[in-house]
Amino acid sequence: MAARDVLRYPHPLLKTRCQDIMPADPAVQDVVRDMLDTLDASPGVALAAPQIGYAVRAIVVDVSRDKREEHRRGHGRVVLLNPVLLACDEMHVVREGCLSVPDFTANVMRGGRAVVQGLTPQGETQVLEALGFEALAFQHEIDHLDGTLFLDRVASLKRDLFPRKQR
Ligand SMILES: [Zn+2]
Repeated sequence: MAARDVLRYPHPLLKTRCQDIMPADPAVQDVVRDMLDTLDASPGVALAAPQIGYAVRAIVVDVSRDKREEHRRGHGRVVLLNPVLLACDEMHVVREGCLSVPDFTANVMRGGRAVVQGLTPQGETQVLEALGFEALAFQHEIDHLDGTLFLDRVASLKRDLFPRKQR
């Protein structure tokens, strides 16, 4: 196991624009293993490399971990390097949280459909269409790679930010 501590806001790495990472890079194995181990040890459904101290563009999304059944539909466990949003639409306001901002949730604008392209750790190009909760998760994690937190997308900190109840 190499579960790592999840960095918390305002750690500077969470505000950093991360570098591309090539599948051939020997560091990929460590990054992916640590992301998966950390996710398994957390209550979350997704994680980005900078949240565990790696300033590289790698994410894992696994909505099948969610406790709400209606959120679990999707592609299961997906690990992507250098992911980009090819399309994002059906914009609407959703309540969002983050392992790196454990004390708050907030209302943010997200797409209900996202088409994501990235590389698998084995170097194959993967394109997938995510809907609903899974689409939100991909948008949230890709934001992390640009140093963007959901707090940065809140329209009004006064109106749209909510203290989290006791966890
Ligand atoms: Zn997050």
